[in-house]
Amino acid sequence: MPAQTHLFLCLKDNYGVLLHDAESGRTAAIDAPEAAPVEAALEATGWRLTDILVTHHHADHTGGIAELKQRHRCRVVAPRGEAARIPLVDETVSENDKVRVGGLEALVLETPGHTAGHISYFFPADKLAFVGDTLFSIGCGRVIEGTPEMMWQSLLKLRALPDDTRIYCGHEYTAANVRFARTIEPSNQALGARAQVVERLLAARKPTIPTTLGEEKAANPFLRADLPDVAKSVGLAGSPAWKVFAEIRERKNKS
Ligand SMILES: [Zn+2]
Repeated sequence: MPAQTHLFLCLKDNYGVLLHDAESGRTAAIDAPEAAPVEAALEATGWRLTDILVTHHHADHTGGIAELKQRHRCRVVAPRGEAARIPLVDETVSENDKVRVGGLEALVLETPGHTAGHISYFFPADKLAFVGDTLFSIGCGRVIEGTPEMMWQSLLKLRALPDDTRIYCGHEYTAANVRFARTIEPSNQALGARAQVVERLLAARKPTIPTTLGEEKAANPFLRADLPDVAKSVGLAGSPAWKVFAEIRERKNKS
């Protein structure tokens, strides 16, 4: 049976997601920014929380864990490298580990850079990827604990997933990301088309998430740092891709 998902806003611009396996009745929250919106989402869907899959230790992804765990006694799965900074962890995972939510199975991908131990969860059978703050729609996370080279490698790892993978990220930053991306690739037609779709979605108060990897590969400058035209547009023709990535990230930080 295919996985069911339910997306909802938390805090100011964080996304929470519930992932549900109808056959077993298990439901995982991907990160837990705060408890109340997760509870509201459980109420709206009628699903029972059994698992929390954590991508990284930041408070806006883990703030709801303690309260949810107390109420639902759910299992908390977290990246091994950050478990000490995440409350009430039951299981730690690292690269290539499998995580089951009933009949659904995720492959753990280590995607460090935003934080040193950040992980993403890829469900191959459903082509679903939960990427936390590594990849955003038309953007990527800030490189806070890692290096730009590390972050670029993490983005390459995600870029290798199938094009029709649905990408769920941690924040609704797409409009600002599109504005910035157009300064890097003003004549990218896929980006222009995505800008229109994003504008329509947000005007209708709808999320721009999930996106697909194929759409991101066509329009997200952070996934395109190894293209000669992108390198040229930031004055780094011939430079290694990670340096081009670092320059684009730096420009975004200042934008
Ligand atoms: Zn974060």
